[in-house]
Amino acid sequence: MSGTFEQTIFHKIVAGEIPADKVYETDEVLGFKDIHPKAPTHILFIAKKEEDFVPSIADLTEQTVQVPGKLIRAAQEFAAQKGIDGYKLTFNVGAGGGQEVFYLHLHLMSQTELS
Ligand code: 5GP
Repeated sequence: MSGTFEQTIFHKIVAGEIPADKVYETDEVLGFKDIHPKAPTHILFIAKKEEDFVPSIADLTEQTVQVPGKLIRAAQEFAAQKGIDGYKLTFNVGAGGGQEVFYLHLHLMSQTELS
């Protein structure tokens, strides 16, 4: 496990301490554009509440097992709202899996550009 809820850059985005291009928000989930997009549309979805904080899929517990579902549901809803027809959803897991930020996040990547 690397970092805590208060230490990660994504916490600072949730707290409004650093800017992000937000495209989706509910009480529980925030979606924002990846700063280094790897597809025409590249959005990151994160849980906002501290009780939902989990660094990585590798750290899921019985208490947090529902969090990935919340992120997937948000991505599904966002894609439907924006008329995105086809996309990839990715969790990078651990440094060996390409994970750089240890605040669980779901990548949505699509060849469809946001209008
Ligand atoms: P990971 O490699 O951990 O799965 O994905 C982290 C992602 O966060 C990367 O695609 C990276 O471009 C993005 N990222 C890192 N720092 C920031 C930031 O400060 N703002 C935004 N919008 N994206 C970031």
